[in-house]
Amino acid sequence: MGQLGFYYDQTACVGCKTCQIACKDRNNLEVGTLFRRVHEFEGGKFPKPYAYYLSMSCNHCKEAKCVKGCPTGAMHFGEDGTVQHDKDMCIGCKYCVWNCPYSVPQYLEAKNIVGKCDSCKDLRADGQNPACVDACVMRCLKFGDLDELKAEYGNDLVRELPVLPSASQTNPSFLIKPKNEALNQTYKKREV
Ligand code: SF4
Ligand code: SF4
Ligand code: SF4
Repeated sequence: MGQLGFYYDQTACVGCKTCQIACKDRNNLEVGTLFRRVHEFEGGKFPKPYAYYLSMSCNHCKEAKCVKGCPTGAMHFGEDGTVQHDKDMCIGCKYCVWNCPYSVPQYLEAKNIVGKCDSCKDLRADGQNPACVDACVMRCLKFGDLDELKAEYGNDLVRELPVLPSASQTNPSFLIKPKNEALNQTYKKREV
């Protein structure tokens, strides 16, 4: 099996946040905690303003800094190569929160541990898709073998954007079909 990860068609995403809500529901998260987040960006000036969205969860990086820096082994690679978290081994030290360049691990104060997207491994083990993938109204999200996703959706996909860290840091398992606006360096800090 090759490297597994998400494909995201940013050109079709309408920013409805259904994926975000489906994930929150699936993981029974408290108010204020999200394992998938739809970011919004804006740019340009009248008469040519624009906006774009970026739906992102854990990128299940091949060289994950959260795994490397975890002192207990709670953050680890699963058998399929995805980045998994063992809540019983977690001591809530937050090193993974600081080490992840994508700000993915979320500290869950009430439990004094972290949590994050597990790629809906239980659903996948049952032959189903992750909850966010099936919830997307525009069918923008897929999860699977990255080589197969590349073969299906083309070679003009990217793994980083001006608003994201360099992919060379962690080798993220994330393929984006980018909107042209999202490749514009000028507006990278104007998140709304
Ligand atoms: S908070 Fe838990 S998962 Fe994160 S680095 Fe510490 S022990 Fe590991
Ligand atoms: S794969 Fe599951 S846990 Fe991960 S973002 Fe999607 S719904 Fe959330
Ligand atoms: S559900 Fe689909 S269209 Fe809606 S914000 Fe998420 S990725 Fe975009």
